[in-house]
Amino acid sequence: KSTVAIVGRPNVGKSTIFNRLVGERISIVEDTPGVTRDRIYADAEWLNHTFHVIDTGGIELGDEPLLVQMRAQAEIAIEESDVIIFMVNGRDGITAADEEVSKLLFKSNKPVVLAVNKVDNPEMRESIYEFYSLGFGDPYPISGSHGLGLGDLLDETITHFPDLPEEVEDDETIRFSVIGRPNVGKSSLINSLLGQERVIVSDIAGTTRDAVDTSFTRDDQDFVIIDTAGMRKRGKVYESTEKYSVMRALKAIERSDVVLALIDADTGIQEQDKKIAGYAHEAGKSVVIVVNKWDTIDKDETSIKEFEDEVRSAFRYLDYAPIVFLSAKTKKRIHTLLPAVVQASENHAKRVSTNLLNEVIVDALAMNPSPSIKGQTLKIFYSTQVAVKPPTFVVFVNDPNLMHFTYERFLENRIREAFGFVGTPIHIIARKRT
Ligand code: GDP
Repeated sequence: KSTVAIVGRPNVGKSTIFNRLVGERISIVEDTPGVTRDRIYADAEWLNHTFHVIDTGGIELGDEPLLVQMRAQAEIAIEESDVIIFMVNGRDGITAADEEVSKLLFKSNKPVVLAVNKVDNPEMRESIYEFYSLGFGDPYPISGSHGLGLGDLLDETITHFPDLPEEVEDDETIRFSVIGRPNVGKSSLINSLLGQERVIVSDIAGTTRDAVDTSFTRDDQDFVIIDTAGMRKRGKVYESTEKYSVMRALKAIERSDVVLALIDADTGIQEQDKKIAGYAHEAGKSVVIVVNKWDTIDKDETSIKEFEDEVRSAFRYLDYAPIVFLSAKTKKRIHTLLPAVVQASENHAKRVSTNLLNEVIVDALAMNPSPSIKGQTLKIFYSTQVAVKPPTFVVFVNDPNLMHFTYERFLENRIREAFGFVGTPIHIIARKRT
C-alpha cells in the first residue's frame, strides 16, 4: 500500500483533513485501552485505492521550537511516504514557515501535491493563485470544515502512487513482529532467536522501502521477522516520540500474521504495555504474550501462576493469547516460543466446516438459550465462516439488534473452545436473514 503524509505548519488544518480522509474507517473497539484516540496513522480509500495516511501534525516533540518541529515532521513525511500533501492556509497567504517547509520538500524529490485549505466558498478561489510561486504546480483549493475539494485533491494524489510490487502472499511462511515498550528486550529476543542452534538465517534483506525483514528457517518452517523499529536513523529527535514509534509498530503489525507482545517481568506490567498490545488485537492479528527477563524473578512453584493471573487481568481483551515466559538474555525457555507462534499462526488461518460450526451453535443454544429484548427473541438460523486471518463468522439471525454483546461473546467462546482457536482473535458478525 502507498503512504500519503500530510505536512504543513501548525493550524493550517492538517488534522481536520486527516480525519475527513480516514473518518469512518477508524473503528472504536471497546475495552481495548486507548487505541483509536489520537491517531496519526490510518487507512483511507479513494477510487479503489486503499492507502495509509499520516498526519505529521500529530507528532509532537515536547518543547522543541516550532522550526525544529516542522523540520522533523517534514523529515518523517519524506522518509515514510510515497506522496506528500503539502497544506497551506488560503487565508494567510504564503508565510515564512510555509517557505521553510517547501525548501525541505523540494530537496526530497518526493511528489508533492499542494492543498490550499480554508477556501470555504467560490469567491475565495482567487486566493489560491499566489501559491503557484511555491513551485509545486497547481494548488488545489479545499475546505476541511466544509469538506470541499477533497475529490480533486485525491484524484491528483493517487496519480503519483508508485507501482509497488505486491507483497508476495506465501501461505507457508509465518510472518511475525515483536512489539513492546523501549527496553523490554525486543532486539535481544530477536538476536537470541536468530542465534539459536537449528535456526538457519537465510537472508537479511530490505524487502520493502522502510523495513528490514529477516527470514529464517527452523524445523523446515520458514519465518520472517518484520522490523518494527526503523532503527536506521537512531538518534534523530523524532525517533523518541511515542507517536512516531507507534506508527512504525502499526506498520509492522499490519504486515504480520502473529504479533509477539513483549512484557518485562523485571519492571512488571505498565499502562503502555496494554496500549501497545491493544494495537495488535485491534488489527485482528494473532497474539502471543511474551514475558521476558524471567531470569530476574526469584521463582517458586507459584510465580508463573501469579504472573499469569496478573497478565490475564491486565489484558482482558487478549484472553485468547498464550503466555510464554522466557529470558532473551540467558535463552532459558526460549525454545517454547516458536511452537506458540506456529500454533497461533495456524489458528489465524484456520477454516472450520460449516456443518461442525452449526452443530456447535445448536449445542450452544441448548446450553444457553438466546436472549429476549422487549419480548423479542433472537433466532439464529445458520452460521458460516466467511474469512480467515482472523477467522470471521457470519451468523444469520431474525434481527441483529437482538444479538447482545454478552451473547455474542458467549458464542465466540463456544466456537473458540470447540475448534481450539488459541492465539487468534475471532470475529462474529450477526446479519439479518433475507
Ligand atoms: P528493546 O529496546 O526492546 O529492543 O530492548 P533491548 O533488547 O535493547 O534490551 C534492553 C535491555 O534489557 C538490555 O540491557 C538487555 O541486555 C536487557 N535484557 C533483554 N532481555 C533480557 C532478559 O531476558 N533478562 C535480563 N536480565 N535482561 C534482559
